[in-house]
Amino acid sequence: MGQALELLLTTNALPEVTGRLCAEVFEETLCQNRKGERISLRAIERFLIEHYKFMARPAKVSRSKVAVIGSGPAGLCAAWALMQGGYRVTVFDSASCVGGTLSYSQSEFQFPRQALDAIIRRFQGTGIEFVTDFIFGRAATPADLLEQGFGAVLIATGVGVTKSLGIDGESAGGVMSGDDFLKSVNWRREDPRSWLGSKVVVVGDQGPAFSCARIARRVGRDVTVVVRGPETHVRANPMFVRHAIEEGVKLKAFTNPVKILTGPDGCVTGLGCRYLDYRMDSKGRMVLVEDDTAEFTLEADTLINVAGWDANTLFLRDIPGLEFNEDASLRTKSEFAETSLRGVFAAGGVVEPEMSLTDAMLSGVRAAQEIEKYLSV
Ligand SMILES: Cc1cc2nc3c(=O)[nH]c(=O)nc-3n(C[C@H](O)[C@H](O)[C@H](O)COP(=O)(O)OP(=O)(O)OC[C@H]3O[C@@H](n4cnc5c(N)ncnc54)[C@H](O)[C@@H]3O)c2cc1C
Repeated sequence: MGQALELLLTTNALPEVTGRLCAEVFEETLCQNRKGERISLRAIERFLIEHYKFMARPAKVSRSKVAVIGSGPAGLCAAWALMQGGYRVTVFDSASCVGGTLSYSQSEFQFPRQALDAIIRRFQGTGIEFVTDFIFGRAATPADLLEQGFGAVLIATGVGVTKSLGIDGESAGGVMSGDDFLKSVNWRREDPRSWLGSKVVVVGDQGPAFSCARIARRVGRDVTVVVRGPETHVRANPMFVRHAIEEGVKLKAFTNPVKILTGPDGCVTGLGCRYLDYRMDSKGRMVLVEDDTAEFTLEADTLINVAGWDANTLFLRDIPGLEFNEDASLRTKSEFAETSLRGVFAAGGVVEPEMSLTDAMLSGVRAAQEIEKYLSV
């Protein structure tokens, strides 16, 4: 079985992540036991990583140095693939801890802190170096790193700013982003009971919306998650939606938030919403249309916005020659991870902010392959 784990780690740098958080669709790859029953790959990965110890050994490095900027799932997967290819890898991160969104985006019951610690130890054991509190774009530019002897630079700075809901009242007291909520609980270890209202409304249909909802529910709050489409089209992992509902989280489908209501003290009192429904448009497509005749209010004293994120390019914008898309994400050559600067590549949320965790991991691996091709010429 130890060999099975060794084999798994040749293609999957983060079985702690896929074994716990992978969407069910990945389980549905046709993998069966001798009786013809479907086997859950996620369960096998989790079993292997929790029951067997991988003795990390310093990797044989015979090739050039590569700098990876950002230690989220994309940067980690790229670093692991490059290390396996014989490159010396240094991962730089502006935060004081390693892991990117893995270090705060999941609740302890979904992805325990010790799983991330185990990942970091394994990476360090192979010789991958981590440098924290290093703001790329300020402390160094791509040109600086290339001059210091790195053969290539991979930018994997992920997602940053939470998207605005674009409705009145967003600056009211009691309105917060999912990012802030999760960082308070998972980074700063705050007890949300000390600042969460009794009625919590969460806006968003991705994984973190349900993480926030479950954390709030587990401290006894009345929690409603508002989603635009039907329950069956929520983008989060269906397993996490099911768990949230089983724990008492309410799901309000076909609902469009239109304004945040506030009291005389400037704090949120509710979310004004309209129902949505499917209608056929002139091209025969089913589209969601607002029913503007009926507005209703969901009472709330805390509102958590998990509507989505923009790419984290704040410190990259002054880098000469680096090109961006209209939505501020980093532009890469189509299908490839190479940016407008030679020797500089990009992967993960910074290229496509709506990317899922597993897609970010895959994009890190693909970027590593591109870097390997570039450095082998
Ligand atoms: C709060 C939250 C919860 C999420 N939950 C889920 C989920 O449950 N399921 C799912 O499928 N997807 C989820 N996602 C989406 C998924 O996590 C992201 O797509 C994925 O983490 C992107 O990985 P990444 O490696 O590109 O970036 P990140 O994980 O964002 O890591 C980027 C790293 O780069 C560092 N960095 C940023 N700027 C600089 C700089 N200038 N210099 C140096 N370092 C820098 C950051 O500190 C960070 O550590 C979530 C996203 C967020 C924000």
